[in-house]
Amino acid sequence: MHADDQVDARLVAAKLSEVRSLEILPESLVTLVERVLPLTRQARLTAQVPLPAREAMAPADALFAGSPLLLRQDFPFDMDQALTLVPQLLDILAATGEDAAAVSATLRQAMATGELDVKAALTALPAGDDAIFAHWRQALPGSPRALDFIITSALAPSLAAAAEKLAPLLPENLPHEHGHCPLCGSLPYISLLREKEGQRFGVCSFCGFEYRIQRIACAYCDEHAQDKLKLFRVAEYPGVRVDVCETCNMYIKTLDFRELDKDTLPALDDMASVALDILAQQQGYKRPTLSAWGF
Ligand SMILES: [Zn+2]
Ligand SMILES: [Zn+2]
Repeated sequence: MHADDQVDARLVAAKLSEVRSLEILPESLVTLVERVLPLTRQARLTAQVPLPAREAMAPADALFAGSPLLLRQDFPFDMDQALTLVPQLLDILAATGEDAAAVSATLRQAMATGELDVKAALTALPAGDDAIFAHWRQALPGSPRALDFIITSALAPSLAAAAEKLAPLLPENLPHEHGHCPLCGSLPYISLLREKEGQRFGVCSFCGFEYRIQRIACAYCDEHAQDKLKLFRVAEYPGVRVDVCETCNMYIKTLDFRELDKDTLPALDDMASVALDILAQQQGYKRPTLSAWGF
């Protein structure tokens, strides 16, 4: 194990025990994430993602005008790896409980009979085609997000590997006045503050890329009138605030661990602060993105 991996593993363990101690999310869900993480982290290192030719990507002037480098449906990912991960993810799901085992078996059977075309699902998610997922949300009312979770987790490692390879192609002085991801155009699912000056970053809900966004602006509709933007905090969750926008009625959580000397792991910090989502939603604000896990 590499030294960085050990630090990462310790950080993951600390975050997971934080999530558990809050006792808000079901233990089966926390266990599922705990078992999936090592698999997807390892897969990220071995993902094969040949990049498209530069000419197939947005030219510099389009990037400066706010276009993403690639459209989601053209974003590279490792189909072979994703197809290998799906059954492994189904095994992990099956081991988290009786209900999960039944859901896993149903999906496996549907794959065997051809009712569920995994390759089509892996292509549909990047393209934003929801039909397959909508079907299985209805067919699995006890675990409506099971397929979203499996497909999102199978794609995540190679999408992240692709984002890492694509990032150096972005111009250095790219403006950051929009909230969407400059690589794929998707919305951020969470934002974070970094550096002493408090530079703000969005974390992409699709490719996982972390990119500069405006410090004081709505990450979803770019509203920057101060009287339309509000934020609230809760004492039990130091370092996490909720930014709300009165113009589009959306909210986003912002992680600010600079004072607390804690490292961020956005996908897990999002889970650890789910109580703030509940509060924001009780006040009528909406979150336009799912978690990094597809639920
Ligand atoms: Zn992205
Ligand atoms: Zn807004």
